[in-house]
Amino acid sequence: MTNRPALPPEIARRRTFAIISHPDAGKTTLTEKFLLFGGAIQMAGQVRAKGEARRTRSDFMKMEQDRGISVSASAMSFEYREFRYNLVDTPGHSDFSEDTYRTLTAVDAAIMVIDGAKGVESQTRKLFEVCRLRDLPILTFCNKMDRESRDTFEIIDEIQENLAIDVAPASWPIGVGRDFIGAYDLIHDRLDIMDRADRNKVAETVAISGLDDPKLEEHVPADLLEKLREEVEMARELLPAFDRQSFLEGHMTPIWFGSAINSFGVKELMDGIGEYGPEPLVQKATERDVAPEEKKVTGFVFKVQANMDPKHRDRVAFVRLVSGHFQRGMKLTHVRTKKPMSVSNPVLFLAADRELAEEAWGGDIMGIPNHGQLRIGDALTEGEVLHFTGIPSFAPELLQSVRATDPMKGKHLEKALMQFAEEGAAKVFKPAIGSGFIVGVVGALQFEVLASRIELEYGIPVRFEASQFTSARWVQGDKAAVEKLVNANKQHISYDHDGDVVFLTRLQWDIDRVARDYEGVTLSATKEMM
Ligand code: GDP
Repeated sequence: MTNRPALPPEIARRRTFAIISHPDAGKTTLTEKFLLFGGAIQMAGQVRAKGEARRTRSDFMKMEQDRGISVSASAMSFEYREFRYNLVDTPGHSDFSEDTYRTLTAVDAAIMVIDGAKGVESQTRKLFEVCRLRDLPILTFCNKMDRESRDTFEIIDEIQENLAIDVAPASWPIGVGRDFIGAYDLIHDRLDIMDRADRNKVAETVAISGLDDPKLEEHVPADLLEKLREEVEMARELLPAFDRQSFLEGHMTPIWFGSAINSFGVKELMDGIGEYGPEPLVQKATERDVAPEEKKVTGFVFKVQANMDPKHRDRVAFVRLVSGHFQRGMKLTHVRTKKPMSVSNPVLFLAADRELAEEAWGGDIMGIPNHGQLRIGDALTEGEVLHFTGIPSFAPELLQSVRATDPMKGKHLEKALMQFAEEGAAKVFKPAIGSGFIVGVVGALQFEVLASRIELEYGIPVRFEASQFTSARWVQGDKAAVEKLVNANKQHISYDHDGDVVFLTRLQWDIDRVARDYEGVTLSATKEMM
């Protein structure tokens, strides 16, 4: 990071990140406060209110609401201080981990939100592991300190041990639960006092010259102050001090203690991402590494969302701009089809509203409405052939066959399924023998979501049924070897939405048999989407 050439200021001020957490830890509340302080919304509660207004429009969204999960991810941009933040929302439910994984390929950092009473929960751990695969820098926010929480050292220890990462306290909580009054900022030697009367107000900051400053006594009750001094002294002895390089390499996470609902600690966290968070990073492509400061515009699609607005049957491809300065109307090359593409109506996402993007820079997330040309993994450039790597498609863990209840609607169903496959919502396999389709997902809930979306968005009632297959592998190898396998195993062969050959299996034994009997063929559980 330090030995890279200086970035153009517009790129250097961008911070593109995601929030990872276990459901209920406070991700939505924190997002709302980010947007509130970023001026993207006028009032806390608006994100949710808008969400609900939209949800009532459809049963599918109602299902989402009932389950308390967020099925669809979106992107939000806002300005705060001199920084431009791009927050990419990740679906929290574990059934959607593949979508989450891809989302995390589009960000440069993650905020891990944990509940101060619960510590590191299962979903946090899973998502953390995904971040670790990419060495993403992680900032930690320990939320709900206004409730009875665990001991501060205990929380820090748990993160260090559970996630094998160094934890450096950026702030130290003062009191807990009903006695929680604020935090001591260990980086700036400041006191931040929480305002319990106004939940949307930014904390009052008191400048002090270290923990011995008598001014502290005016703001902190004597017993809490004594405890604070003791604990901070211990923390400084026992815990590592914040080291930016180590953070940027993904080895250390700074932790802030706060209460999102009371807006406490949120601003400090935003300052943290701004001041220490990574600038837009270099992205790897098969051909070469692409740096954000490069003049030419490049980017890749990491998510496709169809029918975002039921009234307009559009799809939006979410593009992470990797480099350059994009201007509306630019002609880019769609690398997969080698076709030029005029990007005349790109959108930025400000809170729940869409806004036409006149320009965007490396690091930004831009939505491009299209009719299906843009797929996950696709690259857009000014002509150069680039394939950005690291956007995998995982083998589904659950397979079911699907049929339209009305046999006349078979062709329509095919169209709907292909669209969901391109969106990344499911894997769709067309068996070499017979009719119908096999749908593969990572979590069982996805079948229900798909069934209701197909009915809602395409008006086709469908039935999912048990399939004889349990797993799928992409077939790779030289042409003759693949043909030999295909011809001798027609009952196992199917094709995915790109037309790639997929071997459907019942047992591990099938996979072992192929490895043994077919030289020159490999069965792969992932496929790079590019
Ligand atoms: P998500 O599932 O991670 O998005 O969590 P939410 O933001 O929806 O929060 C879950 C619940 O915790 C909601 O009822 C919030 O009002 C509540 N909550 C969020 N932050 C705080 C906090 O700082 N203190 C307290 N006491 N409750 C909070």
